[in-house]
Amino acid sequence: MTLMQGLVLRCVGNNCLVRLNDGSLCEATVKGNLRLKGIRSTNPVAVGDSVSIKKQDTIYYITSILPRRNYIIRRAANLSKESHILAANIDVVLLFVTLQSPETSFTFVDRFLSTAEAYDVPVVLLFNKMDLYDEAQLFRLKEWEDIYAPLGYPILKISALEKRGLDELYDYIRGKIVLLSGHSGVGKSSLINALLPNMNLRTQEVSVAHGTGMHTTTLSEMHPLDEAKGGGYLIDSPGIKGFGTLEMNKYNTADYFREFFIIGQGCRFNNCTHTNEPGCAVLQALKEGRIAESRYISYLGILGDEDEGKYRLD
Ligand code: GDP
Ligand code: ZN
Repeated sequence: MTLMQGLVLRCVGNNCLVRLNDGSLCEATVKGNLRLKGIRSTNPVAVGDSVSIKKQDTIYYITSILPRRNYIIRRAANLSKESHILAANIDVVLLFVTLQSPETSFTFVDRFLSTAEAYDVPVVLLFNKMDLYDEAQLFRLKEWEDIYAPLGYPILKISALEKRGLDELYDYIRGKIVLLSGHSGVGKSSLINALLPNMNLRTQEVSVAHGTGMHTTTLSEMHPLDEAKGGGYLIDSPGIKGFGTLEMNKYNTADYFREFFIIGQGCRFNNCTHTNEPGCAVLQALKEGRIAESRYISYLGILGDEDEGKYRLD
């Protein structure tokens, strides 16, 4: 029996493709006792997990999951309490923003950023489809930059289609576990194709490791980046709106809006909700234009959802 550690690249059913610490790939089965801890014996292992592996004879087993730095879950569509962990240990998120086809809203971005803030996941705002934008749209792009650059969010401008801006992008993703997020149609698959021109090679590598029968639908998968450029992994998990299971309320939401948190230190009441309290530093900053109106609208939107009890961050 040999004990090892590895990184989970892909899961289908109870089988996972794992890159072992020596760099080799293996297909490992999730141990029964570990499955019981999952919901209704579904596979509790997610891509991005660091796992302990036991090799018995010729078979590899996943025996434990190392503690996660963060994770994203998808709640089952039937509104039951069941959920599934899609990916873990994300180092950075590329949040795609497009100004047309489709148009991304401030609200969507702010909600995403606030959950990432709650879980300490760095986010890069990735403006894609730069080749499409006319002067009016470039002007709007400047508005986005004026809001988010001072908050410390890196802003990158690329064209996945024309493969522009990719060298600079590499500086943010090299050697990391990278989650691609954003609306459908913003160019996530196009970026994967642009960054991984050897898709066939990669597919071949995977199928050799797995043998046959690996054509079932995967929930999410890590695509290895070019080792020669420093490696790393891309995860494309469509439809992700945020991290973890944290619930925001009217007293903690502002903690996850960076500028509200800092400016809010100056409010008269330390449980200020920044809505109608006297001596509110956030409202004052809003009036003076030091807080963007769109950010405040997003903030109120989250508080409003909270009031109606419908806002959940998963
Ligand atoms: P996904 O749903 O986020 O994976 O988006 P896709 O990668 O499938 O892209 C959706 C559509 O946008 C496709 O028709 C792409 O060709 C197009 N697209 C993606 N990136 C760009 C880009 O940089 N410029 C332009 N003009 N079109 C793009
Ligand atoms: Zn306040």
